[in-house]
Amino acid sequence: MAIKLEKVTEKFYQSLEEGKILGRKCPKCGAVEFPPVYACNSCGNLETEWYEISGNAKMHSIVMPAPLSSKPEYKALGKFAYGEIELEEGSRFNGVVRGMTKKKRKQILEEGKLPVPVKAAIYQRDGYKTVVFDLVEE
Ligand SMILES: [Zn+2]
Repeated sequence: MAIKLEKVTEKFYQSLEEGKILGRKCPKCGAVEFPPVYACNSCGNLETEWYEISGNAKMHSIVMPAPLSSKPEYKALGKFAYGEIELEEGSRFNGVVRGMTKKKRKQILEEGKLPVPVKAAIYQRDGYKTVVFDLVEE
């Protein structure tokens, strides 16, 4: 099982280099797992397939990073926040959203705008690429 998981991770990062963001889709129930894992969390099916996600998502909660705990590696991201992300394909997970400021967060919460639309992007970190989300401005 450990070897299988490593392969999933490897393929996922390889695809990011090619500009694709992949999840795993269950052919049985249609659920999409992201970040990719082999087994379907919805129905338990072990046979899932690679699936390129659209990148369209919604942000359900906004957590600003604490100034003292923000890691130097995140500085290059600019303004960002953490939050619960829901892909249009259905997966929910915690992610990083760029373009979020304290002021925007306040405005979004005051106007009751959650969830707000976000879009997945591939972000180059030290030596590897990862997936972040950008706030979609209306
Ligand atoms: Zn399934």
